[in-house]
Amino acid sequence: MRILMATAATAALMLAACNPQATEPKAGEPAPPNPTQTVAAPAEKPVYRFKIGALDAIALYDAQNPVPNDNKVFGVGLTPQAVAAPLTAAGQPADPIMLEIHPLLVKNGARTLLFDTGLGAGKGQLMQSLRTAGVDPAAITDVLISHGHGDHVGGLVANGALAFPNAAIRMSEAEWASIRANPEMADLVRVITPRVQAFQPGGEVAPGVTAQDTAGHTPGHVAYLIADGQNQLLYTGDLMHHWLLSVEHPDWNTGYDDDQAAGKKARLDEITALRASGAHIYAYHFPFPGLGRIQTREDKAVFISEAQPAK
Ligand SMILES: [Zn+2]
Repeated sequence: MRILMATAATAALMLAACNPQATEPKAGEPAPPNPTQTVAAPAEKPVYRFKIGALDAIALYDAQNPVPNDNKVFGVGLTPQAVAAPLTAAGQPADPIMLEIHPLLVKNGARTLLFDTGLGAGKGQLMQSLRTAGVDPAAITDVLISHGHGDHVGGLVANGALAFPNAAIRMSEAEWASIRANPEMADLVRVITPRVQAFQPGGEVAPGVTAQDTAGHTPGHVAYLIADGQNQLLYTGDLMHHWLLSVEHPDWNTGYDDDQAAGKKARLDEITALRASGAHIYAYHFPFPGLGRIQTREDKAVFISEAQPAK
C-alpha cells in the first residue's frame, strides 16, 4: 500500500494559511488541481500524511459510501435528473453518488487526537489504516466527535468494548444529550459513558483545537478549528457531504440532515464564510483525503482540492 507524502499540500497549508486573499489564480498561473484527478482507487489510499504548521496530521481511509440518486439524500424534493445534471456536466457518475469516509488524526505534543471514528468494525477500515500509519489505538488520547451519526461514532466501540481504551471522548453537550435520548444508541452509550467529556462549543477542547457550534445537521453538530499559530485547518464534519453537490447547491434539502432547514442554514452560512476567508478545510466525506478550499469560479462556489494526486 502506498503512503503519500503531501509535500505540495504541506507547502500550500503553511504558506497560504496567512494569505486568505490568495484565492484566485492570477493570469498565467496553472489551473488549480481538479479534485476528480486526485482520487485514487480505495486500495491505494489508506493514509495520507500532511502538516498543519508543525503538527503532523494523517487522513485515515475508512470506507466508501455510495448513495443512490433517488432524492432521499441529495436534492430532496427535486428529481434524479436535476441532481444528475451538475454531476454529468462535471464528468462525474450520477448514480450512485459517491461519498467517502475518512477520520483525521493530529499529533500535538504528547496528545494524539482522532477526529471521528468511521463506521466501525466489519464495515470500515479505520483500524487497518491506523496500523498502516503506525498508530496504536491505545496511544490515542482524545477522540473528538463532530456528531452522533453511525459513520462518525460507529468506530468508538469494538466487540462491546472501547476501541480507544485510553482516550477521552469529547463532543458537545447538545450532541451527547441527543445520543443518550436515542434508544438505538443504548449499547454504545453504556460503553462510552465513563469516557465522555461533553463541552459547550466556542472554546478550546484540546490543545490547538476549538469547537465551533454548527448545529443543524444534528442538534449538537460541531466543526473543529485546528491551529498551530497562524496555520489553521477547519474540520468540517458533515456541514457538507458531497464535494460538488453540497458546495454548488448548498440550498438543496439533504436527507441526512436531522433538521433540513437548520442543516441548510448551517451549510449555507459556512460555505459563505469559507468563500470569503479562503480557509483550508478537511471534509470527511469528500474524495480522499478531502483537503482543500472553497473558492469562487464564475460566481459559483467550488471545492478546490489541495491534495497531491496519487502517482
Ligand atoms: Zn457523515
